[in-house]
Amino acid sequence: MEKRELVVIGAGPAGLTASIYGRRSGLDVLVLEKGVPGGQINLTDEIENWTGVIHASGPELAESFRKHAEHFGPEFRDAEVQKIEVKDGSKFVVTDNGTIEAEAIIVATGAKFRKLGVPGEEEFTGRGVSYCAVCDGAFFEEQEVAVIGGGNTAVEEALYLTQFASKVYIIHRRDSFRADKVAVERALSNDKIEVIWNTVVKEIAGDDMVTHLVLHNVKTQETSELPVAGVFVFVGMEPNAKFLGDMVDVAPGGWIKTNDRMETSVEGVFAAGDVRDKYLRQVITAAGDGATAAMAAYAYIAEQLHLRQKVFEPEHTFIFLYSSIDESQMGLASQLEELKSQVQDLVLIDGYKNSRMTEKLGIEEMPMMLELSKGKILKAEKVASAEEAKRFVGLS
Ligand code: NAP
Repeated sequence: MEKRELVVIGAGPAGLTASIYGRRSGLDVLVLEKGVPGGQINLTDEIENWTGVIHASGPELAESFRKHAEHFGPEFRDAEVQKIEVKDGSKFVVTDNGTIEAEAIIVATGAKFRKLGVPGEEEFTGRGVSYCAVCDGAFFEEQEVAVIGGGNTAVEEALYLTQFASKVYIIHRRDSFRADKVAVERALSNDKIEVIWNTVVKEIAGDDMVTHLVLHNVKTQETSELPVAGVFVFVGMEPNAKFLGDMVDVAPGGWIKTNDRMETSVEGVFAAGDVRDKYLRQVITAAGDGATAAMAAYAYIAEQLHLRQKVFEPEHTFIFLYSSIDESQMGLASQLEELKSQVQDLVLIDGYKNSRMTEKLGIEEMPMMLELSKGKILKAEKVASAEEAKRFVGLS
């Protein structure tokens, strides 16, 4: 079976940045991508909050990210990931194009637009219903369109659509926007934009193409019809994480939970970018996540290698396990450093930093002396002094 050090799933800003950091750390990196490289930014017309670049289009930025990643030489492969499997501590990425064993995996699969879930939405997708203003806006030259939602995407894309449409209605279920002030002010000062507050879409209707919306005012309970040729749905995002099933812990909505090292609840599996549970989903935060995930994955791989060589592979070894957050244990560790010259196969390991390894060994208390053969515990003893440790290794 194919074996790789780091497999990155997804080639958006998070995945590409992870591949750059991974390669620069000397890792063998395979990036699995599906569809157009760059991810969601390809769907964005203007990006004004990528530091150092005052203005760029999404596809321009996506292309520069891809070129930058290519420069460091990860392998890119078209493949759709079906699942991740963990068996006896080994991790496997199962794709429609074969299975790969990985030392570490970074899930950077991003998010996709949420659907409204009203009658007509599915039926008219591609026939007036769209989730991408950049892709479809130009089809509505001099026609009236509606944008659904009140977040940044809805407000900014509504403004973008004014280049083509004769009128853009923003239909929002409340009486204030969630989008930031600058975007809202720009939209509200545009003559082509009209906001319909406190209103939800009951139905998207038409014949061959969309002709009108059935609306419901949640304050007055009135129902009305609004003639439009296009409907752009921007009601938030959902994570592309279904392929993981319930293997990692998630927050409500299915966003993957991580710590600040981008570690998921599964050892060696990291998540970065929009797919994870986080405060701000932006290109810049996705790239930051990618960098963190790659460095944490590098540390994880190095640690696994070190532990395998020192703990799980040798025919015979003595291990002193201690906690680096306990001063007396640190003191004992420094005393035992001197013992290493007399006992060749003595290894000192910080069990606090290597908590997964201590768990694997079934050790709950520290400081502890262990005698192991190929990772199997022959003898274990809690020690409180250098004298006790010496006795354990047969020196007194
Ligand atoms: P969002 O901020 O979650 O906003 C979703 C909007 O859709 C909300 O106004 C919400 O209404 C509405 N909504 C949700 N479900 C609905 C339903 N079933 N029917 C009607 N309306 C519904 O999503 P987003 O605008 O896609 O933005 C996602 C993230 O990307 C945010 O963090 C955003 O700030 C960021 N973003 C930033 C920029 C930028 O900085 N330039 C650009 C785009 C996106 P309520 O307000 O009532 O909940």
